[in-house]
Amino acid sequence: MIEELLKYQEADEKLHKIETELSESDVRKKAVAAKKYLAGAPESINKLDVKAAELYSAYEGMLNKLTALKDQESEFENAVSEAEDENAVNYLIKKTEELLAKIKSVSADCAKIQSDIQAVLKDYATVANTTKSATAQYNENGKLYNELKAQKQPEMDAIKSELEKLKAKVDPALMAKYLEKREKKMFPIVYAVRGEFCGACNMQLNMADLSKLKNGEIIECDQCGRLIYKG
Ligand SMILES: [Zn+2]
Repeated sequence: MIEELLKYQEADEKLHKIETELSESDVRKKAVAAKKYLAGAPESINKLDVKAAELYSAYEGMLNKLTALKDQESEFENAVSEAEDENAVNYLIKKTEELLAKIKSVSADCAKIQSDIQAVLKDYATVANTTKSATAQYNENGKLYNELKAQKQPEMDAIKSELEKLKAKVDPALMAKYLEKREKKMFPIVYAVRGEFCGACNMQLNMADLSKLKNGEIIECDQCGRLIYKG
């Protein structure tokens, strides 16, 4: 029972090698990285939209404040020209100076918001440029990956048809277990035990499992999930 499965795994190893080569190829990695960036781009834009809206509303608020302060300033100036005694004039001058200081500070806040808005605009431009280059990178490497895959296809097809033939000789229940693990990217799947230990993960096996193995059964390791047999 085990020999057929081992033969299957041996042939499957060739397929696994090509699959690994494809999935670890530079072109695929570049295409995947570009796709990841492109998938995240709308979220980056959304964040910038939120930030831009906040800054805009803060800027508007500051401008209103500035207008109100300037109106107050001219009111004081008029009052100074109409004031009759020295005390009133001094008081109004003091108030005007306080107002001017406030205007200066609000103007500085406005300038700060303006520069924050400039930074957001720059970020928008960066996202747009990076999106453009990521799209190009995705298209180019996606095409190269497909070419590489097409180039390997005949070899993969040959292995797959060999696997189909070998599959017919393996116990169906065992084959199903193997294929289920293979689907989950486990490889190699079948290991011989080493003494009382799993040949893959070195876990010490219990008496019940050892006795099953001794009877020629192929079991699953509780720890690593590999199919193990007594060699
Ligand atoms: Zn194990």
